[in-house]
This record gives sequence, C-alpha cells and structure tokens, in this order.
Amino acid sequence: LTVLGLESSCDDTAAAVVRLVDGSTPQILSSVVFGQSELHSAFGGVVPEIAARAHAEKLDVSVRQALDQACVGLDELDAVAVTAGPGLIGGVMSGVMCAKGIASATGLPLIGVNHLAGHALTPRLTDRVGYPYLMLLVSGGHCQYLIVHGPQAFTRLGGTIDDAPGEAFDKTARLLGLPQPGGPSVEVEGRLGDPKRFRFPRPLLDRPDCNLSFSGLKTALMRLRDQLVAEQGGLTRQDRADLCAGFQAAIVDTLAEKTRRAMKIYLEETPDTPVLAVAGGVAANASIRSALEEVCGEMGIGFVAPPLRLCTDNAAMIAYAGIELFLAGAHDSMTLSARPRWPLDQNSPALLGSGK
Ligand code: ATP
Ligand code: FE
Repeated sequence: LTVLGLESSCDDTAAAVVRLVDGSTPQILSSVVFGQSELHSAFGGVVPEIAARAHAEKLDVSVRQALDQACVGLDELDAVAVTAGPGLIGGVMSGVMCAKGIASATGLPLIGVNHLAGHALTPRLTDRVGYPYLMLLVSGGHCQYLIVHGPQAFTRLGGTIDDAPGEAFDKTARLLGLPQPGGPSVEVEGRLGDPKRFRFPRPLLDRPDCNLSFSGLKTALMRLRDQLVAEQGGLTRQDRADLCAGFQAAIVDTLAEKTRRAMKIYLEETPDTPVLAVAGGVAANASIRSALEEVCGEMGIGFVAPPLRLCTDNAAMIAYAGIELFLAGAHDSMTLSARPRWPLDQNSPALLGSGK
C-alpha cells in the first residue's frame, strides 16, 4: 500500500510518499518540505495571503520531487492523502485542489486528513505504538492532550485556553530581542540563567483539569523587563538569561503537572502497554523532554518522541494518516472541502471552541 501525502496548512509546503510493507511496517520513501519562513520573517508572523501563493507555486514541485526521490510513479500509488484542515484556509485550499487534480487525472482515491490527526498518529509511523496512547501535541499553534483510540477516534482531555507554548517562546524572544524562532534562542540563553531569580506564575495549576494557559507568562515577562529597564536603563546579559530560565521553568512545571493529570485519566482505560507520545516543535526542548520523561518514569509509562523532522509540519505524517484511514475504509469524494477549523474531537466537553 503506497500513499502520496500533501501538506500546506501553515508555512511549509510538503509532499511525501509512504509505503506500508508486509501489511504492517510503514516506510517513508520520501519526504520533501519547502519552508517559507524567509518570506514571512519581515512581518513578524505568517501572512496568510503570501503563504497561500507560495503553496500554490510550490505544490507541484514538491509532488514531483517526492515521487522522484521515492522512485514511484503515479501508477504505483494506491491513494492521495491531503491535509483538509485545520489551518490557514488559502493554503489548505491549494493543497486540496492539487490533490483533487491528481485524483481526478489518475482515478486514485482521495483522502482528506485532519492536520492534527497527522501529528497525533506520527508515533505509529516511527515506533510500534498500540492504541490507546496518550498524546501531548505542543507546537507553535497547538497545545493539547489527546487519548488516541484509532485514526478517527480521539478524546481531547484538555489544552491551552489561549497561547500555545511555541507562541509564548516566540513572543518572549521578541520581547528580549532574541532571534526567531524563539524556542531555541530562549532555551540556549536560559542555560546560563538562574530560574529562581524572577517569579513567573504557574497558571491554572489550582484547577484540577488538563487545561493550560500561557498568555500570562508573556505579561509577567513584559512587566519584569520594563521594571528592569526603568531601574537600570536596560537589560544585562545575565538579566536576559535569568528571564529566559525563569520563563522556561514555568512552562516545564506547568506541562509536567498537567501531564501527570492527563496520565491519571488515561490510565483509567487500563491500556496494555501505556505510552505517552509527543509531537510538535516545542518537543525539541531538552528541559521539557526530560521533565516529561521523568513523569513517565514516575507513572510507569513508556515515552515516545519521534525525530524532530517528523514532529514539525511534514507530509509523511499526512501520507501515513492516509494509510490508516484507507485501511479503515475511509475516503472522500471530489466534494471534499477545506476547513479552517476542524477539532479532532467534536463531542469533547473539554473543547473550548478554539478550533485548535
Ligand atoms: P503548528 O504545527 O501547530 O501549526 P508550527 O508550525 O508553528 O505550528 P512547529 O513547526 O511544530 O509549529 O513548531 C515550531 C514552534 O516550536 C515554534 O514556536 C518554536 O519556537 C518552537 N520550538 C522549536 N524548538 C524549540 C525549543 N528548543 N524549545 C522550545 N520551543 C521550541
Ligand atoms: Fe502542525
């Protein structure tokens, strides 16, 4: 079973070919990603119109390269899978139209994939992880806990009610004059800092649920920075390092504690081999990773962190999700539409209407 996947929901144009070997082992035959960060860097964020145009220009090149690198012809494919949401609508539409074009020209089945399902199923692409497993998705745009029961069955236990952690790292870097993306710069700067010098809040830890909030950290950081500037006329290297260390420690503590709570709910399902898997760019953070590993050790749960290139946006995860959906008998018709919002679990009481 060989599936072509397309991804264009944010600022990466990607195509990949994934094959299921012997009916059970997924193999990534190619994974092409064209990033757009240099197109958006002057604007301080992704500009939807620029992103959509860049996707439209790059999709056919990505598909050609993905097929060439995989040494697979269109006639050897079994299906075309495409991110159909959630995301920036212009980009998602470009991908869906491209996939429809390929499907109608070849007669291949078309499979619309939820971008978040792509991230959530990645641990099964890279490791032998059985259902149900617990997933923490932490990226620039998302932060949520999911119990993954199957390719179309997710229970959302909770998530951020405002910013995603990656967003908070990026804003912090901006406030301190550090380069983007903020996550790696704040992490490196914070290594030299004292996490206890400044007090940062630990939001929502007084609530028993799995929801998180990160926007207060940014406000706290802004206040501390302005106070230092008023007192001493500017920030020293040490001030910056201490602010980064304190900010990161607050994120680490909050994620560790909420993960413990999510695990308790997950363990009530008595999984045979309990696993916590992570996805999203923020999972690259060494302190966050080791805190999560420690919580897993404490609770007797396995820890799976796919390689970073598969944790951030890519099309191999979309092709793989397409394989699982195909095997489950799901496919779409030419009326497949692009969805700006598409929560994984429509019925979850924890859903806060963010669409994230
Ligand atoms: P999404 O995939 O949710 O649409 P995105 O494409 O912005 O959002 P990713 O590509 O998964 O997200 O991850 C990028 C984010 O990860 C950025 O916000 C970046 O600052 C953050 N990040 C990357 N490395 C680190 C790190 N070492 N520590 C903390 N954050 C990090
Ligand atoms: Fe993503």
